[in-house]
Amino acid sequence: MTQYVYRFGGGVSDGGKGDRNLLGGKGANLAEMASIGLPVPPGFTISTEFCDVYYDEGKAFPQGLRDEVATGIAHIEGVTGKVFGDAADPLLVSVRSGARASMPGMMDTVLNLGLNDATVQGLAATSGDDRFAWDSYRRFIQMYSDVVLELDHGAFEEALEIAKEDNGYFLDTDLTAADLQKLVAEYKSLVEAQWGKPFPQDVHDQLWGAVGAVFGSWQSERAKVYRRLNDIPASWGTAVNVQAMVFGNMGDTSATGVAFTRDPAKGDRAYYGEFLINAQGEDVVAGIRTPQYLTLAAREAAGAKPLSMEEALPEVYGELAKVFDTLETHYRDMQDIEFTVQQGKLWMLQTRSGKRTAKAALKIAVEMAAEGLITREEAIARVDPQALDQLLHPTLDPKAVRDVLTKGLPASPGAASGAAVFDSDTAEKRAQAGDAVILIRVETSPEDIHGMHAAKGILTARGGMTSHAAVVARGMGRPCVSGAGTLAIDAKAKVMRVAGRTIAEGDIVTIDGTTGEVMAGEVPTVQPELSGDFATLMEWADGVRRLKVRANAETPLDARVAREFGAEGIGLCRTEHMFFDAARITAVRQMILAEDETGRRAALEKLLPEQRGDFVQLFEVMAGLPVTIRLLDPPLHEFLPHEEAEFAEVAAAAGVDIDVLKRRASELHEFNPMLGHRGCRLGVTYPEIYETQARAIFEAAIEVAEKSGAAPIPEVMIPLVATRRELELMKAVVDAAAKAVFADKGREIEYLVGTMIELPRAALKAGEIAEIGEFFSFGTNDLTQTTLGVSRDDAARFLTTYVERGIYPRDPFVSLDIEGVGELIELAAERGRATRAGIKLGICGEHGGDPASIAFCEKIGLDYVSASPYRVPIARLAAAQAALAAKA
Ligand code: PEP
Ligand code: MG
Repeated sequence: MTQYVYRFGGGVSDGGKGDRNLLGGKGANLAEMASIGLPVPPGFTISTEFCDVYYDEGKAFPQGLRDEVATGIAHIEGVTGKVFGDAADPLLVSVRSGARASMPGMMDTVLNLGLNDATVQGLAATSGDDRFAWDSYRRFIQMYSDVVLELDHGAFEEALEIAKEDNGYFLDTDLTAADLQKLVAEYKSLVEAQWGKPFPQDVHDQLWGAVGAVFGSWQSERAKVYRRLNDIPASWGTAVNVQAMVFGNMGDTSATGVAFTRDPAKGDRAYYGEFLINAQGEDVVAGIRTPQYLTLAAREAAGAKPLSMEEALPEVYGELAKVFDTLETHYRDMQDIEFTVQQGKLWMLQTRSGKRTAKAALKIAVEMAAEGLITREEAIARVDPQALDQLLHPTLDPKAVRDVLTKGLPASPGAASGAAVFDSDTAEKRAQAGDAVILIRVETSPEDIHGMHAAKGILTARGGMTSHAAVVARGMGRPCVSGAGTLAIDAKAKVMRVAGRTIAEGDIVTIDGTTGEVMAGEVPTVQPELSGDFATLMEWADGVRRLKVRANAETPLDARVAREFGAEGIGLCRTEHMFFDAARITAVRQMILAEDETGRRAALEKLLPEQRGDFVQLFEVMAGLPVTIRLLDPPLHEFLPHEEAEFAEVAAAAGVDIDVLKRRASELHEFNPMLGHRGCRLGVTYPEIYETQARAIFEAAIEVAEKSGAAPIPEVMIPLVATRRELELMKAVVDAAAKAVFADKGREIEYLVGTMIELPRAALKAGEIAEIGEFFSFGTNDLTQTTLGVSRDDAARFLTTYVERGIYPRDPFVSLDIEGVGELIELAAERGRATRAGIKLGICGEHGGDPASIAFCEKIGLDYVSASPYRVPIARLAAAQAALAAKA
C-alpha cells in the first residue's frame, strides 16, 4: 500500500530535502531541518501523491489515509505531551499547503486548529492567559470560516470593527478577554446563519475539513493563474503539512518573523529580515502591521525607531544567527526562513531557497563561488537567465527632475512610468489596449496577480519588503514600491490623494523600485551599467558556452547596444526596417508604384546610397564580425498607406495621381499576405530589388574594408525559400551584383549567400537547398507559423486557452515547439550537413533568446543563436547553462 504520511520532529524524520517531489518544498525542508537537529515543531506531511487520489476519489478520504493520519497525530502528541481535543491541555495544529515549487500566498492555511468551546478553556488555563486563548479561538473561527467553510469574510471583519468601535478602541490588541469571548459568540452565530450549521466542535472534523480545503486550493483560480505564469504543471499537486502550533503572540518575549540569510534585493552578505513582537504567523507576511528590522545595522541604516530583534531579543537573535549559518552551509544557497519565538524559545517553521532579484542572484552566485561554498559552474547554473532581464532595463535618469510625491519601501528594483490604475481588472484591460500602467493598491492579494502581471510597476500603501506585493513583484521582475503609507487610496472612486494632491485613474506616475520613490508624471530613464558581478558571471559563462550569440539588429544604435551586451555579430538585419525611415519611404513607394522595371530601377537608384550608408554603419559597429543581412521580406502593400486620410499626401509626395496610388494599393491587396507575395517571391518577380540591395551591401563592405583595413564578413540571406531553384536564381542575382561591384572597385571581399529555413518544405528539402546555400538560419517565427498552421498575428486570441488546456506546454511563438517544429529543424540540420559538411547553422526567430529553445539548439549542435539586443546576455548565460547540462 502506498505510504501517504511522513513524520518529522522530535528526533524523527521520515523524509528529507531530496523528497521535494513527494513532500513538497516545505515538507521536505521541515524534515531536513529536523534531521540536522534544528528546532522544528513536530508534525507530519501528507504527500503530493495523495493530491491526485483526492481528486480521483471525488474529494473523499479513504480509510487507509485516516489510519495514517491518526499515527501522525499520535506522533505529535507523543513529542509535545499534549492530546488533540483534550479539554485540559489541548494540542493545537496548523494545516498548510506545500507544493514542489513555492507558490507564495497562492494556497490555503489554517492556524490554531483544535480549538473549540471546551479546549479554549484548557488553553486559557495552561497558558495562564485568558485573552490569548480567546483571541486564538476567534482567529481560528475567522480563518476556518473563510478558508474551509468559504463564508463571507467581510461579515467577520465587520463584527471585529464593531466590537472595537463599541468600546472606543483603536487597535485589535485593545480588546480584552471578555470582549473577545463575546466576539467568539458573535462569530459562531455568523457561521450558523451563513452555513446553516453550528461551527464544528469535533477537532477531527475540523482537521479533515482543513486538509480537504488545502488540497482543494490546488485547483483554485488564483493557483491556476500562478501555475500558468510560472510554468508549473497541474499534475504536480500539493502536499499538506500538519504541525504542532507554536505561538509568537504569547507576550513580549514571543515574536514571529521572516528572514533571508543574505539580502534578497541587493545580494549583500548580511542577515536580512523582519519580525513582529507578540504577533502570530501570517501577520508579517500579510503586511497588516509594519514590521521591525531584524538587525541593528538595518534599523540604523533605515533610521527606524522600533528596536531591532538583535536589540529586543538578543539571546534568541544570537541563536537564530547560528541557525542561518548552519542552513546556508547545509543547503549551499541563500535561504528564506520563517521562525517563531514562543516565550523565548526559537522554532523554525520553514526554510527554502530564497527568491531574489537578478542583481542579488548574480552577487550571491559570484560571492558564494569566491567563498568556496559552490563551484563556478554551479554559480553559472544558479542564475536564471530570464531574470537578467531585470538588470538590463533602464533606471531613472539621475539628472532628470523628479516631482516626488512620497517614498515607500524599495520592494523590487527597476523604474517604470505609466497610467495610474486602482484595480487589477482595469490594469489588465488597459495593458491589453497597449497602455503602460502602474497598478496602485492599498495592499495586493493573490487575486491581483493578473493585474500585477499586466502592469509595468506596482505601488502599495501597506506591507513590508516581504509582503505579497513585494514577493510576487520580485518574482515577476516588475518594479514595486510597497508600504507607501502616506497614500490615501480610494479604489472605488479611482483616485488617490498624496502630498495634498489628487492622482486620478489615467494620470501618469513613475515609481522607482530601487529607491522607493513615487513621482508624478513621466521621468526619463538611462541604460544600466553592466559591470561588476554581471561582467564576472558573463565571463565565466562565456568560458563554458559553445554556441555563439548574435543579435537581431538594424540600426547602429541597436547594434551598439548589442555589442555592449556581448553580441558576436548580427544574425538578422531586417532590411525592410530601414525602408520606413522618413527620408526614404517616398523612394520605396515610388519603386512600388512604378509601372515597369525602368521606373523601379530609377527609384531604387535613390535608395541605393541610403542603404549603403546603413550597411557601412552596421559593418563599422560590428568590426570584423559576421553580419547577416536579409534581403527584402514583407509584402509590398505594407509600405503603402492604409488610411483614406493618408492617400492624398502620400500620392503628392511620390508624384503620382491619387487614383494611381489607390489602384496599386488595391492590386496589392492579399487575403493571406503572410502566405502571399513576400520573401524571395519578391526577388523572383522583381530581381532588380535584390540586385540593388546586394550592390549596397558589397559597396559598403568594400568602403569599410578600405577605411578600416578590416574587411567585414557579409552573409547575404534570402528569406522564405521553399525550393532549391528559388535559391539558385536569387544566389545568381547576388553573385552577379558582387562580381560587378568587385570589378568596379578593383577589390574583392569574402561573403556567403545562404537562406532562412522558414517553411516546412525548405526543412524537408534542406539537402538539396544546401547544394546552393552556404548557411541556414532557422526563421522559427515563420517556421512555427507555417508548421502549426497558426497565424503568428492572430494566435494570441486562442493560444492562452491552448496552453491552459495542455495542448502546447508553452506559447510556441515564445518557446520553441520542440516536438514538432524542433523535429523539422533537426531534420533540416542533418540533411543540410549531409550535403555540405560543416554548413553554418543558426536560429534568428524570437526563440533565439528563449532559454529552453537555446538548450535545444545546443543539443542539436547549431553554431549560433541570434536574439534581440536586450536578450543577448540572457542567451549567453542560457547557452552556457545548456553547455554545462550537455556535459553532465
Ligand atoms: C522568422 O520568421 O523567424 C524571422 C526571423 O523572420 P521575421 O520575423 O522577420 O519574419
Ligand atoms: Mg520570417
